[in-house]
Amino acid sequence: MTTRSHKLLEQIKTAGVVGAGGAGFPTHLKLNAVVDTLIANGAECEPLLYKDKELMRLYPEQVLKGMELAGETVGAKRSILGIKSKNHDAIGNFKRLFGGTVHEIFEMGDYYPAGDEYVLVYEATGRLIPYGGYPLDIGCIVSNVETILNISLASLGIPVTEKFITITGAVTNPMTLKVPIGTLLSDLIEIAGGVSVEGSVVVLDGGAMMGSCCDSLDKYPVTKTSGGYIVLPADHYLIRRRNQTTSEIKQIGQSACDQCSYCTEFCPRYLLGYHIEPHKVMRSLGFAGERDDFWGKYAVNCCECNLCSLFACPEDLDPKQACVRSKRNLRLKEISYTPPTSELSAHPMQSHRKVSTSRLIRKLGLKQYDRKAEFVEQTFQPRTVRIPLKQHVGVPAIPCVTIGDKVSVGQPIAICPDGSVGADIHASINGRVTSIDKDIIIE
Ligand code: SF4
Ligand code: SF4
Repeated sequence: MTTRSHKLLEQIKTAGVVGAGGAGFPTHLKLNAVVDTLIANGAECEPLLYKDKELMRLYPEQVLKGMELAGETVGAKRSILGIKSKNHDAIGNFKRLFGGTVHEIFEMGDYYPAGDEYVLVYEATGRLIPYGGYPLDIGCIVSNVETILNISLASLGIPVTEKFITITGAVTNPMTLKVPIGTLLSDLIEIAGGVSVEGSVVVLDGGAMMGSCCDSLDKYPVTKTSGGYIVLPADHYLIRRRNQTTSEIKQIGQSACDQCSYCTEFCPRYLLGYHIEPHKVMRSLGFAGERDDFWGKYAVNCCECNLCSLFACPEDLDPKQACVRSKRNLRLKEISYTPPTSELSAHPMQSHRKVSTSRLIRKLGLKQYDRKAEFVEQTFQPRTVRIPLKQHVGVPAIPCVTIGDKVSVGQPIAICPDGSVGADIHASINGRVTSIDKDIIIE
């Protein structure tokens, strides 16, 4: 690795850059590797979310610069941007900028889950990540486009203090915006013109497919890994599905699953050739002990994309939850998993059985909320930010400020302990530290 690359890794560490697409892995550790292919992941696939699409449309130069820096650091010979064909404006920008460079555009269809690393790497390179492995195992590094943009900012000495975010669903003005990290969900909803429906609402943090319910609007802050929020009436189908108890899921699953295997036939990991069959995992619901473990092994390669539960199953059962439960059981019992073969090849129907985003939106009951959430430049400054000490993979950062301290934007407020996996955290507004526990509050 060159001196320039070492310097960049140090700058990325100091800036607190982590995977912005949801994973939160510290970027200085991810890029400390040698691979032949860098893939910038712009294949945002959660329905209704626009943060990556808008970021690529508006900041293509920074994305290109980040790709150049990251590609040089890991020694990549290929540098690919994975982006959906429907993003015409952004693609036009990149075609203009990429001309005569080593960077390539890989256009993808509008389907879910196009942004899953296993799917993206296979589609862009034809390579399949080995069982339980990472892109690194086959010479690839995948980084979300916002992470790539943050790499370019880090090279200028600018730390991660802001986040692109989409706020959509039952709000007056769905939008994508850039806000200080730690901004509260209640503030985001206010910026978006408030809730647009009568009655109580619930917010899905992270998207319709993989997001989780927020139970309080004042408690949840934007973090370095947030992608978007969907506000929905509390009685919406997606909220009712998430509110089912574990025993309801188990009882209904036991009695109503007719083993049609649609859940397996649509599973993106099964279609890539991995040893996963959620319909067999459903059989584990009726068993305890060894039989439970036997069926549970068909869950190990589940990425929890939720396609089986929210799209494929005609009975509205929850094979994804059955997979989550089985994986947890196997872990608790320390039962190791060996795939039946290390050979992998995609299913012959893989390219024909992709689930289009428009079909998914209809199935999820989101058609009425399917409005473009364009980027809105705004000057909103929250009065309070709540900044979690753990927004990343690894150990929580250690506060380096005390209650009462005055801080300014970009100042380090918590540091990753030496030799640990983690990331530094910076103040996102000017103000005074008023509380420190698992979050630092600045007002
Ligand atoms: S799709 Fe539903 S009913 Fe069919 S096997 Fe899967 S869980 Fe059972
Ligand atoms: S959640 Fe369902 S569809 Fe997705 S990987 Fe797991 S089993 Fe397959």
